[in-house]
Amino acid sequence: MLENNKTPYDFTNYIVNALKLSPSNTAILCVDCQNGFTERCPNELPVVGTNEEWIDQVNEFLTLMKERNFKIFASMDDHPENHISFEKWPPHCIKGTYGNQLFINTYDFIIKKGEEVDGDSYSAFYKDIERRIESELDELLRKHKIENLVVLGLAGDVCVIATIEDALKRGYKVFPISQYIKAVNKKDIKELIEEKFGRII
Ligand SMILES: [Zn+2]
Repeated sequence: MLENNKTPYDFTNYIVNALKLSPSNTAILCVDCQNGFTERCPNELPVVGTNEEWIDQVNEFLTLMKERNFKIFASMDDHPENHISFEKWPPHCIKGTYGNQLFINTYDFIIKKGEEVDGDSYSAFYKDIERRIESELDELLRKHKIENLVVLGLAGDVCVIATIEDALKRGYKVFPISQYIKAVNKKDIKELIEEKFGRII
């Protein structure tokens, strides 16, 4: 396990040299890396710790992984103005707004969810979890022969956990990077993931 407070370069090295993960069957999955979940958007759903320094680190890591030819899959909430989830959460990630935009500069595929007024999903594997309408994620991963997922993003205890759970159900090996996952609630995301899934990088 790699402890926190490592540089993006350390994480890249660990993934490639210690875990020996290869871009031929490993991808990076960035869950909801959108401005609306960061401190850039205080009126949406800002997760504590998502400041510019953290965003820069995530971007640096992705650039390094891209240089090693790893593919990057980015999920995003793409909500209409009157989305059903705004009964529970503050309005966030509305189509066409700054909050909707990704804060990551490097990615190969975008996977949208929660696009219809009455449908939503925390997991990136679904567009609408209640109606069990899947997103393109699983199909895209299988098409690219991906078996391992290095996971990061927001929010750790909501969409990231739900996505990891669905990834494991589908047989993917999951390698979450705790330093690049921030949670809404104070519970340490590293502990949460270890308890639930037994492994973290
Ligand atoms: Zn949402």
